[in-house]
This record gives sequence, C-alpha cells and structure tokens, in this order.
Amino acid sequence: MDLDLPGYAWDLLPYLEHPLDLYRSHVWHANSNEQKRTPYAAIYTSLGCIYGCEFCMINNLNRADNSVHVSSRDSRLMRFWSVKWVLKQLQQWYDMGVTTIRISDKMFLLIIATICPFARVLLSEGSIFTCGPIHELTR
Ligand code: SF4
Repeated sequence: MDLDLPGYAWDLLPYLEHPLDLYRSHVWHANSNEQKRTPYAAIYTSLGCIYGCEFCMINNLNRADNSVHVSSRDSRLMRFWSVKWVLKQLQQWYDMGVTTIRISDKMFLLIIATICPFARVLLSEGSIFTCGPIHELTR
C-alpha cells in the first residue's frame, strides 16, 4: 500500500492561516473541548473488511473482478499501510499542530484485537483512546 498510495498532499488543502485549520472534528471527537476541534484530520490505516454484509460496499475498493454477478462481498480482504507509513503521517500532522485525529478504518476494533501491526504498536506504547468510538484517538 505504501507504494500504491504513498500519502496525502495535506498542504494543498485550502486553509486560513495554517494547514488543516478549516477542518473541525465533531464535538465529541475532541472530548467537548472546542480548542481541540481544529486543526483536525482523518486517516485510514487499512482499506476493506474481512466480512461480507450484503448491504455494504466497503470492499468495492478491493474488487479485482468486474464480472456482472461479482459484488463487494465477493472481494473481502483488508490491505494495510505499514506502521512506518502511518507513524510518518502522524508525525507530519503533529508537526502541523494537529492534535485531534480520526482513524476511520472500518474494522479498527477487530484490527486491534488481531491483525494490524500499527494498532499493536499503539497499544504497546500505551497511547490514549478518547471516550468516543474505539477508532478515535487524540494525542
Ligand atoms: S464494514 Fe461493517 S457493514 Fe461492511 S462488510 Fe464489514 S462488517 Fe459488514
């Protein structure tokens, strides 16, 4: 994934005075602290899902067969960016003054429990989760 999708051009997004200062988290993402709502950014550390719920399109981005009767649920898999890549993104945000972020992975709770090297690093280093959904982090 690091080679296929190597990163974001955060500096090209519109801003007022500092990068990402036009983006705000939901109130509860920032523990109801208005000062922490911006700058704000979101990231995926993985794409896809190992499950195949009939109503869900999440695995369309993993679809490798465009046959008529192949659906999202036929393309169940997860792909990950490396721990090094994710930490580089987090450092970039930190350098930009971003202290509230969202990790938008669809299966982050499962990832923590099982398969994601990045999640294991977060847990082993004692990183703090907010009281929001499990995939919301603050630094
Ligand atoms: S992301 Fe959620 S709804 Fe979609 S296939 Fe996975 S478990 Fe089902």
